[in-house]
Amino acid sequence: MKNNPFNICTFDPESNCKDCNNKMIINCKSDKSLQKLSVQIHLSLIIIALIGLLATSTIVNNWWIVIIYILFVILFFFVIEVRLTCSHCPYYAEKTKRLNCPENFIAIKIWKFNPEPMNRFEKICSVTGFVFIGGYPILAQLYGLYYFITQYTNINLIIIIGLAGIFIATIIILLLFVSLFINLFCIECINFSCPFNKVPKEIRNEYIKRNPILKNAWEKKGYKF
Ligand code: SF4
Ligand code: SF4
Repeated sequence: MKNNPFNICTFDPESNCKDCNNKMIINCKSDKSLQKLSVQIHLSLIIIALIGLLATSTIVNNWWIVIIYILFVILFFFVIEVRLTCSHCPYYAEKTKRLNCPENFIAIKIWKFNPEPMNRFEKICSVTGFVFIGGYPILAQLYGLYYFITQYTNINLIIIIGLAGIFIATIIILLLFVSLFINLFCIECINFSCPFNKVPKEIRNEYIKRNPILKNAWEKKGYKF
């Protein structure tokens, strides 16, 4: 109970896991190997995006292009997204200073746990944030390529090939990010109200019914089992 003030089965060593139909079906216990994989997937996308944005900033001679992205990534992953999405997740209910879920062991818990499902506004903002994380580097790099071709008098083919290579690599890594995330995390994640969650309703219901704090909060918001 020490670290489990909301009595969530995920943190309860005595929860009746062996009789639970959800055992091994959802990510209801934290897993270090998934945490590492999640960090690698996020870092791959952010690193390739930063390489593309650094190249774009150099060509356009405007460092705000890369600075805006760095500031947004830090703010989004450590403050905004944690409030919008993670604060509703059962993993956020553990009484610890940092998150310790299958996807994140870095973010500090600055918000309160909210057992209610995410509302529409939170879902829209969360999706918009991810669209920005993926879309901004692609649009900025396209602009950089256009700028180089139209504004530079000495057009160097090697630079164009280099820029196009980074651009294509960014798109490929973005597609891999989306596909890996959906197939490895979203289909088993216990943050059931997240707009990316893909867990079937019967599995979701079993977990929620097992955890009265969630059941009461979801029912209060009109959820029907
Ligand atoms: S849902 Fe809860 S009770 Fe079922 S296996 Fe996971 S932690 Fe155990
Ligand atoms: S929503 Fe995802 S990243 Fe956030 S606490 Fe839950 S499992 Fe972790």
